[in-house]
Amino acid sequence: MYTNFQAHLTRELETIKSAGLYKNERIITSAQQAVIKISTGEEVLNFCANNYLGLSNHPELIRAAKEALDTHGYGMSSVRFICGTQDLHKELEAQVAQFFGMDDAILYAACFDANGGVFEPLLDEKDAIISDALNHASIIDGVRLCKAQRYRYANANMEELENCLKIAQAQRFRLIVTDGIFSMDGNVAPLDHIYALAQKYDAMIMIDESHSAGVVGKTGRGATEQFDLRGKVEIITGTLGKAFGGAIGGFTTGKQEIIDMLRQRSRPYLFSNSIPPSVAAAGIKMFQMMAQTSALQDKLHENTAYFTQKMMAAGFDIKPTQSAICALMLYDAKLSQEMAAKMLQEGIYVIGFYYPVVPKDQARIRIQISAGHERAHLDKAVAAFIKVGKELGVIT
Ligand SMILES: *Cc1c(COP(=O)(O)O)cnc(C)c1O
Repeated sequence: MYTNFQAHLTRELETIKSAGLYKNERIITSAQQAVIKISTGEEVLNFCANNYLGLSNHPELIRAAKEALDTHGYGMSSVRFICGTQDLHKELEAQVAQFFGMDDAILYAACFDANGGVFEPLLDEKDAIISDALNHASIIDGVRLCKAQRYRYANANMEELENCLKIAQAQRFRLIVTDGIFSMDGNVAPLDHIYALAQKYDAMIMIDESHSAGVVGKTGRGATEQFDLRGKVEIITGTLGKAFGGAIGGFTTGKQEIIDMLRQRSRPYLFSNSIPPSVAAAGIKMFQMMAQTSALQDKLHENTAYFTQKMMAAGFDIKPTQSAICALMLYDAKLSQEMAAKMLQEGIYVIGFYYPVVPKDQARIRIQISAGHERAHLDKAVAAFIKVGKELGVIT
């Protein structure tokens, strides 16, 4: 049997390669931070991590994780409801809920699991899920696992959302689902309008704050802070794997009864291991730091404003961003790959994206700014973009 299957896979892999879509991985030999070492021995500036607050290699989080290794051990070897819950897990859940102004929170191995396990226990075929077309893959998969009627509206298109809501009056309960920040444009979901429509058409709201938590809003409390809607949505999901230290772990936070039901019925929670104590302890430390100061958010917002202003002044076509994601629009797929390769030669690590990751003829370089970047890093990146941009005729 395998001979035929092998030939089949080899052909499929060749198709992926000839379409230019084969993903190669660059190997980093240092910690994840602003300046990274790659396996060729070179040092480059990293502008493609989700390390928005520069916490991936933060000494306080490392210390907290090391201490927990000594006090609470290495692994849990259990799901939460058998014997996988320590004081650390309960404390972290309380911190998550407090950070977002919600009743309670539940931890998962990843936000992929949080989204995979949130719909099916709460809704059934009598209900409606109304989802933004650009929502994350994990939301799409989670919705597929649920029997609710599915509606889809074009990215942030409130007219289409309203139409969906009108039709969905036929269903029992309605849940609008959106990412907080859309990862390719860096635009924030129009939560003020979504909230108004939810009120008008009697719907609930779930927001995935994976890219927006820690980043969006004056103190980084996410889209609900940005729009002054703290505590007004029913469900928030998010990750500890981006701004919040970047290790691993996801969560759902929301109304008490929703979290209670997920603890009883959510399959990725019930049938998958607990996050390690060291990760939980570092997460607690991180939220304690966030509660004391929003200095990292201030620095991130300053860095993003500084970088985009310099790039626009140089003549680049930068999408207006409300996050730390900056899209440098090139439109041409090949150009996006050439530019990223040349930027790496200049010591700047950025990624070019093109169809099908972004719409056709919308190819771009995505630059992710971090509070871990210093002015000198940003200046070096801008100078390299100008040099490469002139070489490639992107700017004059
Ligand atoms: C990154 C991301 C996820 C997945 O988070 P993990 O914790 O890495 O599984 C889910 N949703 C959105 C919107 C994301 O950006």
